[in-house]
Amino acid sequence: MVTIIELTKRQELIVQIVKENGPITGELIAERLNLTRATLRPDLAILTMAGVLDARPRVGYFYNGKSTNTIIAEKLNKITIGSIMSVPIVVRDESTVYDAVVTMFIEDVGSLFVVKEGGILEGVISRKDLLKIAMGGIDVQKMPVGVIMTRMPNIVTTTTEESIVKAAEKMILREVDALPVVKVETNEKGEEKATIVGRLTKTNITRVFVELGKDR
Ligand code: ADP
Repeated sequence: MVTIIELTKRQELIVQIVKENGPITGELIAERLNLTRATLRPDLAILTMAGVLDARPRVGYFYNGKSTNTIIAEKLNKITIGSIMSVPIVVRDESTVYDAVVTMFIEDVGSLFVVKEGGILEGVISRKDLLKIAMGGIDVQKMPVGVIMTRMPNIVTTTTEESIVKAAEKMILREVDALPVVKVETNEKGEEKATIVGRLTKTNITRVFVELGKDR
């Protein structure tokens, strides 16, 4: 769960006082606002937890100079793909284009990942790849998916530890709707193998956006 704070009027006043007078004790802030120290305690706790203010024992509160944008960026960068990804929908490399179309409808997804034995990533198929091949009048029941997929090493991937900001940036730059979430391992021959562990789509990112927007 991610929280982006919206400051109340009183909290904004506290920040202003600390900005101009910090380091300043809680007592003095309370005095300036004509409130008791106890009344301010929850506000000061929120402001320090959110990283707007810092508190040092026997010194007081001081403004740490972070803008709300910096705080939002820090929070976003802490959200990792592992916490928001979906289950990967895959087809085997020997599947036909027809199988891929059926899987896309049944699973209600816009991209499929093509794997070989052991869940190793070989390719990606998008809606447009299927439309393109359908226009050619070929026999979709015979054509293997390998002919139309985008294949490794040209696939943009992400990992469970990557931040959503980095992964979203990859989607924008490469103009794709989905990234396979992979675990990369090196075998005894020194070859890298990417095993699929999840699926990241623009919908996953949009969900985070909605959650953050509703969290007030
Ligand atoms: P759409 O078909 O709806 O435009 P995409 O924008 O995701 O969907 O796909 C555009 C092209 O990019 C397709 O040819 C697809 O195979 C390829 N593609 C999709 N995802 C990736 C990815 N993660 N890495 C590399 N290529 C991809």
